[in-house]
Amino acid sequence: MSVLVTGGAGYIGSHMTLELVDRGDSVVVLDNLVTGVRAQVSEKATFVEGDISDKDLVRDILKTHKVDAVIHFAGSIVVPESVEDPLKYYSNNTAKSRDLIESCVASGVKQFIFSSTAAVYGVTDEASIAEDGAKDPASPYGRSKLMTEWMLEDTAHAHDFRYVALRYFNVAGADPKGRSGQSTPRATHLIKRACQVALGRAPYLGIFGTDFPTPDGTGVRDYIHVSDLIGAHALALAHLRGGGASSLFNCGYGHGFSVREVAKAVERVAGAPLAVKEMPRRAGDPPAIVSNPAKLKAALGWKPQHDSLDEIVASALAWERRLNSA
Ligand code: UDP
Repeated sequence: MSVLVTGGAGYIGSHMTLELVDRGDSVVVLDNLVTGVRAQVSEKATFVEGDISDKDLVRDILKTHKVDAVIHFAGSIVVPESVEDPLKYYSNNTAKSRDLIESCVASGVKQFIFSSTAAVYGVTDEASIAEDGAKDPASPYGRSKLMTEWMLEDTAHAHDFRYVALRYFNVAGADPKGRSGQSTPRATHLIKRACQVALGRAPYLGIFGTDFPTPDGTGVRDYIHVSDLIGAHALALAHLRGGGASSLFNCGYGHGFSVREVAKAVERVAGAPLAVKEMPRRAGDPPAIVSNPAKLKAALGWKPQHDSLDEIVASALAWERRLNSA
């Protein structure tokens, strides 16, 4: 019995693979290495370079390795890019997920965990969003993921197949043991960018929008440490393997930080001022997205261990330094 991790050479998938191999699970990683980094895959996992839409390859992996559960991270994740190139997102996140789900059904793999996103929700005045909040994605990225949630729901109705979709809020930070982190050099995410600036790899941090209806005018997000996110996946896997029903969960802490607050945290942790530059809003960016994590805590017993912006930033900075010195 083993777990297939798609996108296991990527930022979050590589952390999932570490968690699984650490506890002795057999893991196969499938990654096309378009954005993934081969060296980031644990040597204890079997690595296969390829695409989730390659049905022959996927079915061969599922059979050969006796896969009983798929954890599906592979996809494209940059909101503004999805606005500029929506069809890339409908291909990588929607159409290819369809192919993967079909391969699972055809091969009798009945358990599936999906990386979804808080971007499936619409703009809201609520302080935080629960799973039943209105779905009205502001970007093709959010739509591409919401469509995959729908495919999973319909597949679970029609077949002997159960899934957990985890809606990630803003994932950041790195493995506390320093074995993995965000490696993409052209990463666009805030904490990664801020760490690059702190280490002199970029001249300044752009603050995208200072006129949002938020306390300091900059965008507010619920940043979750990647290790706590992986903890949620481990609980979801145990839930499915224990016969648990299909479900959806938010993954965030339930409180948000503005772009300026993140910049201050990076200054605090790095111990030096951070150059920032106010810029116009970025396409597709909602003002604030904060999770209501009550369901994940109640249903799966999730207990965050790293709910601290400074800890998130410190681990991200430590990883960035490691990349610098590599
Ligand atoms: N952001 C920013 N400068 C950057 C990157 C991001 O001001 O260089 C802002 C962005 O507008 C949003 C927040 O930081 O309000 C988080 O953006 P990120 O790209 O990290 O994640 P997203 O919420 O878009 O998935």
